This record gives sequence, structure tokens and C-alpha cells, in this order.
Amino acid sequence: MPSIAENIQQIEKGLKQETRLVAVTKTKPEEVLLEAYKAGCKRFGENKVQEMTAKYEALPKDIEWHMIGHLQSNKVKYMAPYVALVHSVDSFKLLKEINKEAAKNDRLIDCLLQIFIAKEETKFGLSKEEAVEILTSPALPTLKNIRIAGLMGMASNTDDQNAVRNEFKGLKSLFESFKKYNNEQISMRELSMGMSADYNIAMEEGSTLVRVGSAIFGSR
Ligand SMILES: *Cc1c(COP(=O)(O)O)cnc(C)c1O
Repeated sequence: MPSIAENIQQIEKGLKQETRLVAVTKTKPEEVLLEAYKAGCKRFGENKVQEMTAKYEALPKDIEWHMIGHLQSNKVKYMAPYVALVHSVDSFKLLKEINKEAAKNDRLIDCLLQIFIAKEETKFGLSKEEAVEILTSPALPTLKNIRIAGLMGMASNTDDQNAVRNEFKGLKSLFESFKKYNNEQISMRELSMGMSADYNIAMEEGSTLVRVGSAIFGSR
């Protein structure tokens, strides 16, 4: 079995210049994260606020912490002091909460809007119309402590690679079309798509952040 360091190297080697790796470390213990850190990986994705915060407190301070999971408003305060990017914003209410906690910490927090692109019922995310509503909301400019830095999406969990590719193509084209909203607060520059099973397809379709867990750390 290849080591964690070898897996990271292998993946990094195959990435395009514009695509960066977020190592998804959810459920993995601190020693495992430290092993990835020593292999040069300093961008970690977690899906639970408490778990991420405990790891943040225990591990080196030059790690970038990415929240990739569905978020409850009442948990935002725990990560507001340190989170680097929130991938999973799926309501205006959540954005308001992130703004409030960012302000308390005197920070500007970058957020991605999570868009629903899969066929499954179970995945979270906004429709195109709901995303437009947020991007054009007259209340958005009052949220001085957040920025919208791009979009995130999860493809269907299927072996049909064409279906997956089409979902990524759809997200990329939405991302491009949303650039017309770019201003001081909105900048469509990060496109978070691709996981262990489909990150190569996502990269080919223009991903800037791939979120890879099991291909580095083994199954959970
Ligand atoms: C768990 C998770 C990943 C990583 O999944 P793998 O298949 O292990 O690479 C990526 N994105 C999100 C949102 C996740 O919850």
C-alpha cells in the first residue's frame, strides 16, 4: 500500500497549475493529518465544525482549514476565528450568520455558494435561481465581512462518467456566467468540484479546488 505522502505526491503531480488540492481529513485522527502535513499538504477539508476546531487547536497554525460540509448557523461562531474558506453556503441566512461572526473576529471570510448539480435528492445546495437571488440581493452589500469567492458542487454518485462530466460542465458554465456579478464583494475565482472518484474529470472541466479524501487516506 502506498503511504499518505506517496498518495499526495501522486495526486499533486497530476494536477493542472490552476487546480489545488484540499485534502479531506474528516473522521481521520490528528496523527494522520500530521503525516499529510509533513508531506507538504497544508490545506485540509472537514465537514463538522467541532471536529475541525479540535484539530485546528491541536495542529500547526499554518494549516488552511476549509469547511466543506452542511453547516448549522449555531456552529459558525466556533470556526469564525480561523476558517479559510467555507465551501458550503446554501442560504442567505447562513451567509448573514457567517458575516456576523466574521465581524466579531474582525475578519473577512471567503465563501462559496454550494450549487445543487446532482440527480440525487440527498445532496444539499442552491438552484441557479436561488444563487442569483443571493448574488443580486440588495442586502448582500451590507454584509461587509464576507466575500463570495466562487461556487462548489458535488456530482452524482454514479459510474456514468459522461453524466458526471455533464454536471461539472453545467457548474463551470454557471460559474462563468456569474462573473457578470463580480464586484468588490463577489469574485468568481474558485470552482470547488471533484472528489476521489471524479477529480480528474472535474479538473478537465475547470475545477480550481479538488476535495480528495479516500484516495489519500483510504476508505472511511
Ligand atoms: C467527504 C467529502 C469529500 C471527499 O470524498 P472522497 O470520496 O473521500 O474523496 C469531498 N467533498 C465533500 C463535500 C465531502 O463531504
